[in-house]
Amino acid sequence: MAQTPRYRFAPSPTGYFHVGGARTALYNWILAKQTNGVFVLRIEDTDDSRNNPQWTQGIVDALAWLGIDGNDSHFEGPYFQSANAALHIEAAEKLFAQGKAYYCDLTTEDIQKRAKESGGQNERQGYDGYSRDRGLGPGAGHVLRFRVPSGSTIVQDQVRGSVEFDNATIEDFVLLRSNGSPVFLLANVVDDITQCITHVVRAEEHLPNTPKQQMIWQALGHEPPSWAHVPVLVNEQRKKLSKRRDKVAVEQYKEEGVLADAMKNYLMTLGWAPSGDTEIIPFEKITDEFKLASVNHSPAFFDIVKLQSFNADYIRAMSLEEFITACQPWLMSEKAPWQASKYDLKVFTEIAPLVQTRVQLLQEVPSMVDFLFCDLPTLDDAAFAKAFAPEWAVTTLIEIRDSFTACDFTPDALKAVVEAVGEKHSLKLGKLQAPLRVAVTGRSVGPPLFEPIAMLGREATLKRIDAALAKKV
Ligand code: GLU
Repeated sequence: MAQTPRYRFAPSPTGYFHVGGARTALYNWILAKQTNGVFVLRIEDTDDSRNNPQWTQGIVDALAWLGIDGNDSHFEGPYFQSANAALHIEAAEKLFAQGKAYYCDLTTEDIQKRAKESGGQNERQGYDGYSRDRGLGPGAGHVLRFRVPSGSTIVQDQVRGSVEFDNATIEDFVLLRSNGSPVFLLANVVDDITQCITHVVRAEEHLPNTPKQQMIWQALGHEPPSWAHVPVLVNEQRKKLSKRRDKVAVEQYKEEGVLADAMKNYLMTLGWAPSGDTEIIPFEKITDEFKLASVNHSPAFFDIVKLQSFNADYIRAMSLEEFITACQPWLMSEKAPWQASKYDLKVFTEIAPLVQTRVQLLQEVPSMVDFLFCDLPTLDDAAFAKAFAPEWAVTTLIEIRDSFTACDFTPDALKAVVEAVGEKHSLKLGKLQAPLRVAVTGRSVGPPLFEPIAMLGREATLKRIDAALAKKV
């Protein structure tokens, strides 16, 4: 019987969840689903100095947001690397017992000194294999090193093809530090072996580790997994996305109101393209079509502007009910610019269709509708100064105000009033309504004006126009 494919995602919880990590997770998830295999989530939490339980929870939550969690039968985990420490040590001892690893007592300074003295003649970069045949055992200050065989190591990579490494360029690398703790290279392989991983799909930055890890797999008596190293994500300057410089946290995009479906779709278009002439396609279709072999070798540009435009498309594609529901966390948030008691779902429901077509991120929604839930809008000074700069601004607004005291308070009637004033002064509607918009909403941009004014009602509208006029004169 064919072996069940087992993929894994093995993040180190050392910060917010990186969008590059999310893409790698999606690749593994899709491949596991395509093959009716398993997706293992393993948290590599052995770097005590950088780990934090908060980051682990962040990863688990962000993956669940993307639909990767135990609600799906393909999901397994999370496992924690720290729980497997005994297995890592056991594997190291096995390699030592078989002569595939040896202890060495040289300090970093000793190694540097020897490298310098040899005048760069060492075949192996850095460490020259000094303790290979000294027969040392474990002891204070001793590290365990892997005995790299001669020859070459060929990594068969599903994205990069066959990559050959000359073993002479790989030093006898450390497996156990002098304090006895296993290094990443070893712990990662032992966990993959223990968890019966058949496919390792991960970021390109791990490619240099791969020949070493393949040697460990073989030395421990196992067939290495199928490897795939996917290109990194870069910013506009073509620099690798960095936590310090770029906005990389999945959590942050979620907070801004990027929809999970838009994020998933966008991430999957980085370095890979679905068939057909649109990149915006359902995740089911992506899951059917995705192939590692068609992933591009070059770094992919993580374009925030494009992500937002994907998101706008996804927002427009929602039903009105879905949109209204999706907006609630931003509207009910204590950060919303109104007193919680003033927010009215019925009012928002009325204006929602006008807002849905105008936002790229859900976090933009409160500032589009805040004027409906505040007594007086907070006037944006720059918008106010600009709208009231023309010499006709005050005169026409007074005329509009006067007509508003008597006309029907319906969107059509209100619009007709403003158009009539425009005709009288030979001003186009767009131009003429600028002071009115700022007076009523506080801003120069927002949804079409007359529906919200009708919703606001005569009394509140007149009050706002009067307040703006009072500010002007
Ligand atoms: N824990 C490693 C990292 O976050 C991943 C290693 C792997 O995928 O093999 O970079």
